[in-house]
Amino acid sequence: MGLFDDLSKTVSDLSRQTAEKTKRWTEMARIRALIAEEEGKRDSSYQMIGKLYVQRHAADPGEDFQSLVEAVRKSEAAMEAYREQLRRIRGMLRCETCGTENPDTAAYCGCCGRPLPRKPQEGAESCAVRDEAQAPGQEDTGAAEPQTTDADVCQSAGETC
Ligand SMILES: [Zn+2]
Repeated sequence: MGLFDDLSKTVSDLSRQTAEKTKRWTEMARIRALIAEEEGKRDSSYQMIGKLYVQRHAADPGEDFQSLVEAVRKSEAAMEAYREQLRRIRGMLRCETCGTENPDTAAYCGCCGRPLPRKPQEGAESCAVRDEAQAPGQEDTGAAEPQTTDADVCQSAGETC
């Protein structure tokens, strides 16, 4: 009987240890989730600080922030150029006054009623927009690109330059 008692004591010790281990892991996972949650809140605060800074110090960001603010502007310009590409593909025109997207057949904005920018002639101007959109990513390597690339892009899009 003594042997059986020892054995059952060992088994109950092991299962108690396992239960404690599981409890510890659960507690650690809970705390890690709390850390991740606070990390997310902190990062979004950092983001807000950055946005506020760019808004308030746009004119003179200061030496330390100059390149970061420029990077933000560059990305925003590239995003707008890409959005313009999407609008063209979807046949939409963006109102320069209120920002509403209108069908490119419309003469006036459906939201604010102002005249919409006239659809550029298929050709030089639309190619220029396309160049602008591609410029940010290619700026550094632009010099290595052959001069005919832009024309090729326009021709492959079925337009004449
Ligand atoms: Zn409008």
